[in-house]
Parts: sequence; structure tokens; C-alpha cells
Amino acid sequence: MSELSPLQLEPGLAERLSSVEDRIQAACRRAGRSRDSVLMLAVSKVFPASAIMAAHQIGLTQFGENYVQEFEAKAPIVRPLSDIRIHLIGHLQSNKARRAAELFDVIQTVDSIKLAQRLNDSGRPLEVMIEVKLSQEDAKHGAGPDAVPALADAIHALPNLRLTGLMTMPPWSDNAEDSRPYFRRLRELATAVALPGLSMGMSNDLEVAIEEGATIVRVGTALFGSRRRH
Ligand SMILES: *Cc1c(COP(=O)(O)O)cnc(C)c1O
Repeated sequence: MSELSPLQLEPGLAERLSSVEDRIQAACRRAGRSRDSVLMLAVSKVFPASAIMAAHQIGLTQFGENYVQEFEAKAPIVRPLSDIRIHLIGHLQSNKARRAAELFDVIQTVDSIKLAQRLNDSGRPLEVMIEVKLSQEDAKHGAGPDAVPALADAIHALPNLRLTGLMTMPPWSDNAEDSRPYFRRLRELATAVALPGLSMGMSNDLEVAIEEGATIVRVGTALFGSRRRH
């Protein structure tokens, strides 16, 4: 009896990766940017650890996960892949900060000084980004734009945290152009606080994000398919 390899469990993954890659390269060309300036983060939330294994087999090493508990279950399976880096891209409550610091390599969703301090107290060196809330939608997490400079200063003073940029998620729209003003605003904010990293753009609007300067695009559906069946 032979076990199914991860790639057999994820039919179509290589084709979907190649079409996402084509989109990224076309957007980089249009924007006059080098392909190296944009990281494609593979968002594996809701999908099983085998999806990460399959994506790793075809060369992906950086993954985005949304929930501490969900990744806790996958970690024993995927952590033996020594070259992977896992980014937390979902909201993080302060009471889970210590566990998150043990599980993830990058926390993209720091939105308060209290959370930053808790992460720093874990003692583990971490890369972090500030999640910024740029829309009025109540459901969205993130620091308000006015709070970003003080939060950035506070994080810079914490020895275990290395602040590399800002992250945002605009209100969902099926028209990618609707995201552009949010992406532009995030870039202006990052420039104002002298941070190089911009995590913005998802399956539906990654081209617009790259045109507006994204250094990380977070791609789930276009790579792994719809999350509804999982
Ligand atoms: C789920 C998720 C993504 C990926 O979204 P897709 O539309 O599936 O590409 C990106 N960023 C965050 C914060 C997410 O929660």
C-alpha cells in the first residue's frame, strides 16, 4: 500500500501557482518593478497540513495562517520542513501572544502596544508588522492610521521585535480598483514612518496592490481553491 503524496492530494496546485505567478510577473512589469521585490505568501488557512506540504514540494516556503489554534495542529507536521516561514495574518488576542510567538516566524497583525509588549515578553526574536485599519467597517481589526507612529516607536524600542512594515485588508469588493485608495494610503503611511514593508493584496486585487507598492501579497483562493468545501 502506498500513501498518496501531498501533490496528489492537491490536484491542480502547480497549474494554479503558475497562473498566479504569471499575474504577479505581469503586474511587476507594468509597474516597472523587479519580481524579487514582491513575496507571494501562500495563505493556507482552513486547508490541511498536506496542502502546505504539497505547496512546499513545488517550491513555496512562506505561508500565511489566520488562527493560532488551527496552526498549532498543523505545526508538528510542517515544522520539520526546515526552510519554511509561517506568518500569522489573522487577528491576535493578547492572551494568545505567548503561544503565537512560539508558533510563528512573523506576526503581521500587531495592532496595540499591549500586544507588542506581550510578544516581546515571550523572549523569542520575531519579525512583526502593524495591521492598519483604513476603513470604517466595525468588523475589521487593526490600529487606526493616527495611532501608527506611536505604535511604531513603541515597537522599535522592544528588543525582541523587528518591525518591518504595515499590513492592511480593505473592505471586500469584487472590483479590484476599489482597493487602490486603501493600498495607496497604506504606502503613504509606511513612508511617513520610514518602514519598507507593505503587506497588501489578495487573490482578487494583487495586481493593484503590486502597482501601489506591495512587498507581500497574500494569496489563498487563487492557489488552493475555494475554502468553502473545507
Ligand atoms: C484569507 C486571507 C487572505 C487570502 O485571501 P484570498 O482572497 O483567499 O486570496 C489574505 N489575507 C488575509 C488577512 C486573510 O484572512
